[in-house]
Amino acid sequence: MSSRRLEHHEWFHGRVTREEAEELLEPMRTINGCWLLRDSTTKTGDYALSLCYKGQKYHYQISRHSDGRLSIEDGQRFESPVDLIGHHKLHQDGLLCKLMSPCRRRTGVEVRGYKDVSYADMQEALRGVVRTVWGLKGEQVDVALWKNRPMLERLAGGVLHVRQPWFHGKITREEAERRLRSTSMPNGLFLVREREGDSFALGLCFQRIVYHYLLDRNADSQLSIQDGRKFDNLIQVVDHYSRKPDGLLCCLMDPCPVTGFGPSLITSNSPVEDVEPPQPESVRNQRQPPRSFVPVLPPIRPSRSPADMRHLEEQGGFKSIYEELRIPQQFKLRKEQLALGKELGGGQFGSVLLGTYSMPGERDIKVAIKQLKANDVPNARAEILKEADAMTRLDHPHIVRLIGVCHSTPIMMVLELCPFGPLNKYLKTHKNMAILKVLTLMQQVANGMVYLDRMRFVHRDLAARNVLIVSEEPIFAKISDFGLSRALGVDSNYYKADTAGKWPLKWYAPECIYYSKFGNKSDVWSYGVTLWEAISFGEKPYRGMKAPDILKMLEKGERLHCPKACPKCVYDVMLCCWEFTKENRPDFVMLENMMKDCVSEVGSGNFELGPFEGAYYVGRLK
Ligand code: ADP
Repeated sequence: MSSRRLEHHEWFHGRVTREEAEELLEPMRTINGCWLLRDSTTKTGDYALSLCYKGQKYHYQISRHSDGRLSIEDGQRFESPVDLIGHHKLHQDGLLCKLMSPCRRRTGVEVRGYKDVSYADMQEALRGVVRTVWGLKGEQVDVALWKNRPMLERLAGGVLHVRQPWFHGKITREEAERRLRSTSMPNGLFLVREREGDSFALGLCFQRIVYHYLLDRNADSQLSIQDGRKFDNLIQVVDHYSRKPDGLLCCLMDPCPVTGFGPSLITSNSPVEDVEPPQPESVRNQRQPPRSFVPVLPPIRPSRSPADMRHLEEQGGFKSIYEELRIPQQFKLRKEQLALGKELGGGQFGSVLLGTYSMPGERDIKVAIKQLKANDVPNARAEILKEADAMTRLDHPHIVRLIGVCHSTPIMMVLELCPFGPLNKYLKTHKNMAILKVLTLMQQVANGMVYLDRMRFVHRDLAARNVLIVSEEPIFAKISDFGLSRALGVDSNYYKADTAGKWPLKWYAPECIYYSKFGNKSDVWSYGVTLWEAISFGEKPYRGMKAPDILKMLEKGERLHCPKACPKCVYDVMLCCWEFTKENRPDFVMLENMMKDCVSEVGSGNFELGPFEGAYYVGRLK
């Protein structure tokens, strides 16, 4: 009789992911009925069967029922995974074909367990619990183990983590920070510490900053970062996040070794100042945007809505030449149609030049041409095309228009010209501009953001430097720089970045920094900072402060101070954009209305000034 212990079977691979299983099966892809069994990495105690059929790979989830038995969907139930496999070797019974040729572990390859805890060690720990706690023996041990795996893992894991190199016991947040800082702080260096009430915190280094993620238990005693995936023990937590970041800033890489530090238990009078990192939205609903860049199809632009037309009239009836001519967007422009002039500004991937576009059958028009400087920035061409792709789908008076792309070397993106440049620079040289005019500009930005939100875009780089001025009389602003912007999925209200790149952290909401999650509410936070820059006439936010200090300040409930001569109603708008919990921030529709109210209040001349030099605003926000 074949052994009922899974690890004795070479077709059982343990905790390999779906992707890893596909890699293992790849050489045998064409053999119908080639298969392997693995542990489910999403649910403790479940399994997954991976099977090749007609050159494709299929994965069946084997779920455990309340009676402890296993089945594939509603199929026949079995006592053990070995019985289930035995059955499907003989009977197709709902599968695409019978299990024919097992894909075996290579010689010397162990069944895959968790990071730092091998499969054999975990099994031994689980058996130990069954023997000592339940007093079971022999085959009963394995039966109990199959049936109660999640609960047993919770029990065994509660003991095993103590031995792990990354577990630092009951130390304070400050001590954890000190320990992580005593290294060269490579990205992904981590430790886990114990907090009060059987909960933990994960300390993670990323770009030389230490982040603290709290791991709390739910009613079923499972651990998770807020609203993140649930785990039965810390071993699973560390294993999962060392495979993928899944909401953290990066994967867990090396443990900050516990050796070398003296014991530092929390005493009753040592400060335990843990601050909740912001809430991520449910990780489960997360849908990644398509990874590869899809070449842009000729755009279909929606016609202007009556609301947009009304707004335009309210803004003094300004119409750019592009509005007047309604220049058809030519996705592909020829180099001969373009003449390059002086540099208007430098960007991340190149420079923006003044240019002329000779449109067939029309007069020449002035344009801005974004050009790659050299091909020394990896993926720069793809990035520029991605930005162009985003812009093609947008048509709004307060959003810079894309005219087309010239696929020359270097590649060129041709944009509507905003002759008065970026808002921060403009305001620095126009310090006597009436506050009402600045507010009007910012109301226009809010109006553009309402549109962007409606189109299900997140900008991710809203800042005064990316608000460009097109006209002074009437004053007219446009949102630009869609290099970081992303379209949201159909059923997802946020975008999760795979990796944290060169990010404008001072404009980012806490959930972006902690969880790489971006949505319209994180753009709202950035809008607040942009408003602050505008009212401060181009001052730099958090001047001289480094990212870790800013995070600490935000966690304490402090915010950027009220700028000089800032009306109270305007500072109130900023403060609600900077609510720590994103659900408490207004959306752009509300924000635009709030800005309209500010414009009327300030326009009436009857308004209160905000608490300038009232130091920082403390309280209320947490
Ligand atoms: P990057 O995305 O590479 O940072 P930006 O789009 O921010 O580049 O452009 C860099 C600078 O070029 C801006 O700060 C601004 O001065 C100038 N610029 C960009 N687009 C325009 C435009 N449409 N009209 C006028 N100037 C522009």
